[in-house]
Amino acid sequence: MPLPRTPCSQFRSDRLPRSRSVAETQGTSGSRGAALKVLLAAPRGFCAGVERAIRMVELALKKYGAPVYVRHEIVHNRHVIESLKAKGAIFVEELSELPETTAPVIFSAHGVPQTVAAAAKAHNLFYLDATCPLVSKVHAEARDHYDGGLEIVLIGHAGHPEVVGTLGQLPAGAATLVETEEDARRFCPRNPERLAYVTQTTLSVDDTRAIIATLKRRFPGIVGPRKEDICYATTNRQAAVKAIAARCDALLVVGAPNSSNSLRLVEVARAAGCPKALLVEAAADLPWGELAGVATLGVTASASAPEQLVDEVIAALRARYEVCLETVVTGEERVAFNVPRELRAAGTPE
Ligand code: SF4
Repeated sequence: MPLPRTPCSQFRSDRLPRSRSVAETQGTSGSRGAALKVLLAAPRGFCAGVERAIRMVELALKKYGAPVYVRHEIVHNRHVIESLKAKGAIFVEELSELPETTAPVIFSAHGVPQTVAAAAKAHNLFYLDATCPLVSKVHAEARDHYDGGLEIVLIGHAGHPEVVGTLGQLPAGAATLVETEEDARRFCPRNPERLAYVTQTTLSVDDTRAIIATLKRRFPGIVGPRKEDICYATTNRQAAVKAIAARCDALLVVGAPNSSNSLRLVEVARAAGCPKALLVEAAADLPWGELAGVATLGVTASASAPEQLVDEVIAALRARYEVCLETVVTGEERVAFNVPRELRAAGTPE
């Protein structure tokens, strides 16, 4: 059955009492097929930590020339990695893969265990740390709790580089990883009176709240962060998705399969009432079959996905549908982080 061709003007922004629907609702783009209402979530895409990390690689390339080595994907996005490779960045997983070099080595935004910085120093490497300041804040909390004699619960996902980096701030055995509410129910501390928790920055806000509630119910004296560890960007992107999910027949998260941020947005969309939430890496991967019969499509992008990928997705949708685009704004962000002093003099990236 053909989808109804609904004029943009019939989509009412007042269906979203707690969000602001931008009057950028744009007209259709010619008679290309069925009508498709696209709800574009805002905020979406790059966060301040990702922008800083990418800028650091670009500035290092400008100041020191190629190659610049980067330990681990600077941020989890293939498009970003390929574009930095084209400019002269070389990505390695471990410092042991590096040749003899005086070129800079940059640590990714996810943070690294202390042993990595120590190994870099021991080998006289010139390294620059692109760990997001909000991840560094969690590292500092974890070290403070340890120094204060507390046993630490780290809420996060096993194997994620950020979790590896946070655990690596502490001696082995000082922290226990808790991934689920079930883990929180089973956790047996050495001393229930001497406990603290920290979290990965890119978790589901709701799942984490439930895990923390379980820990607090069992251990009322557990010490938590003064300000949440889940970062502003994760929180805002999830809130933006929640605001549109129930209005969407399907929702696309532009992101990467190894990006925690991206995967959480897919889960949040489903939990908030969107029947079909899908991760796409780029316009070329759009799952056209899955979109058959979809009248309202949500679009967002994870904190490591460049806006260019969103633009290309919208352009691909316009090529197939009569798109009516509405941006739904649930918050504004003005966060920016400085690059390290060594790179400030390099000016702006080329
Ligand atoms: Fe930093 Fe949050 Fe961005 Fe991660 S998602 S880089 S913690 S601002």
